[in-house]
Amino acid sequence: MKISKIEVFPLTLPMKQNFFISGGKVGDLGQGAPHVYVKITDDEGAEGWGEARPSHRWSYETLESVTTTIEHYLKPVLLGESVRDLNRIHRLMDRSIAAGFSKGMPIAKAAVDMAIHDLLAKHHGTHLPGLWMGTFKDTIRLSYLISTNDPDQACKKAREAKENGYLAIDVKIGLNPKLDVQILEAVKQAAPELYFRADANQAYTLTEAVRLSREMERIGVDVFEQPLKANDLTGHAELRRKTGTPIALDESIWSAGDLIQAIRTEACDMVVIKVTKTGGLKEARLCGEIAKEANLGLLGGGLTESTLGLTASAHLFNYLDLQIPVDLNGPFFLADDPAADGLQVRDGTVHLSGREGIGCTIAEEKIQKYAFKRE
Ligand SMILES: [Mg+2]
Repeated sequence: MKISKIEVFPLTLPMKQNFFISGGKVGDLGQGAPHVYVKITDDEGAEGWGEARPSHRWSYETLESVTTTIEHYLKPVLLGESVRDLNRIHRLMDRSIAAGFSKGMPIAKAAVDMAIHDLLAKHHGTHLPGLWMGTFKDTIRLSYLISTNDPDQACKKAREAKENGYLAIDVKIGLNPKLDVQILEAVKQAAPELYFRADANQAYTLTEAVRLSREMERIGVDVFEQPLKANDLTGHAELRRKTGTPIALDESIWSAGDLIQAIRTEACDMVVIKVTKTGGLKEARLCGEIAKEANLGLLGGGLTESTLGLTASAHLFNYLDLQIPVDLNGPFFLADDPAADGLQVRDGTVHLSGREGIGCTIAEEKIQKYAFKRE
């Protein structure tokens, strides 16, 4: 079971709507969304598929950097290596692309890690949870994503979420900080009983975050996600001491080491687990297990991956027994993608197929159809 081929496919997938966070546009209706698919073939002819979804307004990785990182730096050190030795595969990847402040180029590494997991599970004749000696669960609940500058639109969307059977709402804030309180109030009024997550994506200073967190206490927001810059753990710890609103960290946690620093500095109440930001399923699972042992709350998220990344993440979140509906929001934005069969999304619930590996079939004609072309 040695890696004999690694193929990288940069894609532009069609979108249904634009997607904004406080840092700017992360997906464009006109231009489509950047995704990178990876196919790994072993010397017995078995195939595994993985996916990266870089968003350069969210972190520094781009479609181009993910593609060249895998092609020029990861592939040369991985060819000929055993698929069975996942620790060694990660050691080789981390030596080839060294760490910066945290893990280096994690989104690129995640696509390789995902493809190796797909291949390994297929070799064992089992699905992902089977590979981890966990049981298969066939559903997971999604949260409903609201990202708008307009309080009336936020209210309409929150009502829609409720009517469509969603149990949780994830609101992007900091798009226009002057409107944050109005938007939060509109959402709470329209759907008061839904779990309420407000994600700032690092938009605020400590003073602004303290002020806003007190409004959140009054409104009844359940969690304030990543209010401050990613490297400001002491600021998040100070914010926690000044508010009753639970604080979650997302962009601050890229590895198990980052999580341990956050625990030591008492910087958060909850942590957002994402497969691709931590360099793949291996580290994301470790982060989830450490967070649980530290009695932190767990939130599940993604970077609008297509069906392939969504299915892999959903299996991991079920394995970790996440209780709060997860923010895997690719289907909110993507009009089509090359992966099928892994799952179906109906009424705010993901229904997983439980097929071998990650469980997706990849339509290679769509890989050709959506191949990235520089204008
Ligand atoms: Mg987030």
